[in-house]
Amino acid sequence: MKTLRMEEMNWVDIKKAIQDGFKTVIIGVGSTEQHGPHLPTQTDALIADVMVNLIAQNLKNALQARTISVGCSEHHLPFSGTISLKKSTLKAIINDYIESLQKHGFQNIIFIPTHGGNFNPIKETVEQAQVKYPDIKILAFTDLMRFMDVQDKIAAGLNITVEEAGGHAGEVETSEVLFLAENLVKKERFQPGYLGILGKEEIEMLFEKGMPSLTDIGVLGDPTKASKEHGKIYIEKMVEFLINEIKKGLVRD
Ligand SMILES: [Zn+2]
Repeated sequence: MKTLRMEEMNWVDIKKAIQDGFKTVIIGVGSTEQHGPHLPTQTDALIADVMVNLIAQNLKNALQARTISVGCSEHHLPFSGTISLKKSTLKAIINDYIESLQKHGFQNIIFIPTHGGNFNPIKETVEQAQVKYPDIKILAFTDLMRFMDVQDKIAAGLNITVEEAGGHAGEVETSEVLFLAENLVKKERFQPGYLGILGKEEIEMLFEKGMPSLTDIGVLGDPTKASKEHGKIYIEKMVEFLINEIKKGLVRD
């Protein structure tokens, strides 16, 4: 098949693919939110879309459904351009995706969030949906701390510290967008953001009080260390990690 993206396919070919064994459907869940003065607001959605496409290609029996490109970004609303869904809205969207996709004969429905604010609402929705649809498998990778940890370890291998890698628009995400869409990156605006500890406490504070409580430019980490080469490595290694998790049946906690 030329494409695994269902939005580029027609119903006839989608139906045939499912009959031919493409029983898994994967959906990226990103956001539309500020990513510092240098990255586009579509950053998380772009990364989710590409990662899920690579995962689908690797699994060989999977199609990709339209990426959900808006998420729960309340903590970024003080910055212009951020569009945020209420948790109940995102949950409703995830539910409607599941309800639609299960009708077509998929046996596995898998959500891959790339934006921190989406992890919990997806986790709750998927758990409830699994009870409603016991005959199919509904999965999501929703362990945010582990996601960050894996990213930090890849960064460490590239001599990038945890603080520089950053949780938002830092070295990691800036490298990824340089690799995926360099034309959308404002390199002349690279400047370090918050470079302190980013543990569970800080992340909770971000969600409660908003990004300006830690950074007035909306950046956690240091984009000045970013490179296209690193971006390729981050994307490829995260994809490898997620494929392993999917093959294990996915970790939900
Ligand atoms: Zn992001």
